Amino acid sequence: MRPDRMPVVEIDRAALIANWRMLDSRNSGAKTGAAVKANGYGLGAVEVATALFEAGCRDFFVAWAEEGAALRGTLDRLQADASNASADPRIFVLQGLEPATVPLYLARNLIPVLSTPDDIAVWQAGLRATTRKAPAAVQFETGMNRLGLTSKDARLAADLAASGELELCLVMSHLASADEPTSQSAEQLERFRALAGLFPSVPRSLANSAGVFLGPDYAFDLTRPGIALYGGEAGPGSSEAIRAVARLTASVLQVRIAKAGEAVGYGAAARLDRDTRIATVGIGYADGYHRAASGAGVGMRQLRPGAEAILAGRRVPVLGRVSMDLTLLDVSGLPEDAVRPGARAEFFGPDMPIDAVAQAAGTIAYELLTALGPRVYRRWV
Ligand SMILES: *Cc1c(COP(=O)(O)O)cnc(C)c1O
Repeated sequence: MRPDRMPVVEIDRAALIANWRMLDSRNSGAKTGAAVKANGYGLGAVEVATALFEAGCRDFFVAWAEEGAALRGTLDRLQADASNASADPRIFVLQGLEPATVPLYLARNLIPVLSTPDDIAVWQAGLRATTRKAPAAVQFETGMNRLGLTSKDARLAADLAASGELELCLVMSHLASADEPTSQSAEQLERFRALAGLFPSVPRSLANSAGVFLGPDYAFDLTRPGIALYGGEAGPGSSEAIRAVARLTASVLQVRIAKAGEAVGYGAAARLDRDTRIATVGIGYADGYHRAASGAGVGMRQLRPGAEAILAGRRVPVLGRVSMDLTLLDVSGLPEDAVRPGARAEFFGPDMPIDAVAQAAGTIAYELLTALGPRVYRRWV
């Protein structure tokens, strides 16, 4: 039996679906896909994809072929059970095509996103060896200098597409700063338009979550939101529209009063200036609750104070260093009997915005979600 007091992340399926529908409704002309890489941003790719399929999503993006292969069976079963004959679910693999994996792409019906001339050559050679036809996507470099064809290589790809030697179902690029007020997105948009113009009849995709909030110019034929589905902010003005999806909780294991002048936690990083009631909670950095969220004593983090959690309906600060399996909360501000062993504290969720916790830890919501450890039980509600 799994102990009740272990950390849990509750995942609100209705909120996940509501977020997808909200994003979908912002662009009437474009289809809305979903980034489900990294195990659905840590929450469970199969469960996420199942919920979004039922909402109407048919385009899924993963980083690696392995991730796509693990999803294919689920999506095919859902499609077979679906009463109306809708478009077949597609799985796009964003990176890492290599010769040995081409058979996996073909067997599991995965669409590679080709980002280098070498990717194109590997894909073509793999198809020739099997005499199969299968579509691919190409990605352009438009200002991020991460993955993508240069404009010269995009021209070569356009020649191959025009002559029928390369079958394409999508051209795409990725926005570097869509969540910030900068001119970079507009510059990328212009470059993307120019390069996509080389592929006249191929559908286009540019926007991640924050790109969806930049307006219809960025939507093209298909959007690829990730973080906003899972309840993270996606740029200025987005947070009102996005519902919290994940609620991370852990249990109080012990409550004690420590005296003024005493030290707390590893490294005696917190030294008490008054008598303090402390709740010791069973969650730590091994669960993905970052050490950088500590209330004190993390040398590399310049931000002060550390994160807060919700206990007995109130915000309480993290005290001293977060350790591997335990975190200390200063509950002096709560009524004396409000906190007992077994009470659960919320470390992020509807009452403790994940972006506020991320900021206190010097990181982003993406990292808090994808870092959730294997000891954290995923409970769908
Ligand atoms: C991860 C990813 C996305 C989703 O980005 P969010 O910022 O989470 O919405 C979209 N496109 C590509 C290429 C990605 O790598």
